[in-house]
Amino acid sequence: MEMKAPRGTHDIMPDQSGAWQIVEEMIRRRCRSNGFDEIRTPIFEQTGVFARGVGDTTDIVQKEMYTFEDKGGRSMTLRPENTAGVVRAFLEHRLYAGPMPVKLYYLSAPMFRYENPQSGRYRQFHQFGVEVFGAPDASCDAEVIALAWGLLKDLGVEKLALHINSIGCPKCRAAYQEMLKAHFNAHLDELCETCHDRLERNPLRILDCKIDADKPFMKEAPHIIDHLCEECQTHLENLKKYLATAGIPYTIDPMIVRGLDYYTKTVFEIVSEDIGAQGTVCGGGRYDGLMRLMGGPELPGVGFAFGMERLLMVMDALGIMPEDDNTTDVYIASMPEEEARQAAFRLCLAMRAEGLRADVDHVQRSLKAQMKYAGKSNVHLMIVIGQDELETGKITVRDMRTKEERQTTMDAAVGTVLSMAEGEE
Ligand code: ATP
Ligand code: MG
Repeated sequence: MEMKAPRGTHDIMPDQSGAWQIVEEMIRRRCRSNGFDEIRTPIFEQTGVFARGVGDTTDIVQKEMYTFEDKGGRSMTLRPENTAGVVRAFLEHRLYAGPMPVKLYYLSAPMFRYENPQSGRYRQFHQFGVEVFGAPDASCDAEVIALAWGLLKDLGVEKLALHINSIGCPKCRAAYQEMLKAHFNAHLDELCETCHDRLERNPLRILDCKIDADKPFMKEAPHIIDHLCEECQTHLENLKKYLATAGIPYTIDPMIVRGLDYYTKTVFEIVSEDIGAQGTVCGGGRYDGLMRLMGGPELPGVGFAFGMERLLMVMDALGIMPEDDNTTDVYIASMPEEEARQAAFRLCLAMRAEGLRADVDHVQRSLKAQMKYAGKSNVHLMIVIGQDELETGKITVRDMRTKEERQTTMDAAVGTVLSMAEGEE
């Protein structure tokens, strides 16, 4: 057996994790200032949570889930998305009994889908997402969109396009679906095999088909946005006003229907043209029917999910990948004798206690080899502990970049290093 990561998964290596952390920290800050609190749910749930919450006519539930039987004979599934799990937790912990709305986010949460791996499409990937429960107003749709948009601004990501649509509510959708069925029935022989299936179960999803996308009958299909009931129409108009107030540009895209069954009214996507075919960085919308569907009270919801890998791909493509600073603030080299190593170790711990990134030798290199190592290893300041230093307690801190040197003592070394480390910024 070849020891390789499973197909469709990827390691986030030390030279990449710094960028992830910087992006994650910016996301946390944005969420906090927007009044969202973090929720972490299990990465597996009872299969029924997704069958019900995601919808058993979706591609996810039909084709993409990692489902297994645990040793107790229960059917479990690795989460393919997080909304269903968050709703499950919301209900289980009776958050609906408290004040509304409840604003939650999850960050870099691993998701699992059995998909055909390709650029931007993995079997294990990570999502950042938010969910707001208990707020029916279009202002809340605008609030979550503004959060996503503001975040992209923080990250310096430009050139992304916001596409919005409304897919109505069960009231207006029923009549529309009949129209849509009639339209596609007239083009039965042109539909792909999957769309044949979709025609009865969920004709709306045919609009989302990647195979049939460019066929002429698709362009002639009726759009639900032209057949909304008054309530849904007003909701959409209000959303547009709030987006205008927030200064967020958008295009109406009648072809967005989203893959998930539980969406109502607003749906949206944020799309990049810089990362090829898998250009959707963020997808979201309103799901007023979900809570009820999962056995809870009638409570509206709205949210989105970002694909973290896709977000980082866009940043990479735009040349704005954040650079992590992995400079060692101070490296303490010592003679290989035990007494000197002890002194270096003590000094190193004292430096770390002050929040400095400090290191010592652990592989018994000669003093000369340690100095060479420090020279190559992105070290800012260096201290050398040799015989003289041990005997007198006097040491020298050397700035490896400016070559400046300052004399100090073992006892005062931390203060000297702190001032030299800060002096640079
Ligand atoms: P797509 O149309 O690309 O399959 P989706 O509609 O299945 O996307 P959602 O369920 O809305 O995607 O998930 C939200 C976001 O998660 C997507 O916009 C995308 O950025 C990311 N995402 C979804 N599936 C994958 C995957 N297999 N690998 C990496 N990122 C993914
Ligand atoms: Mg998908």
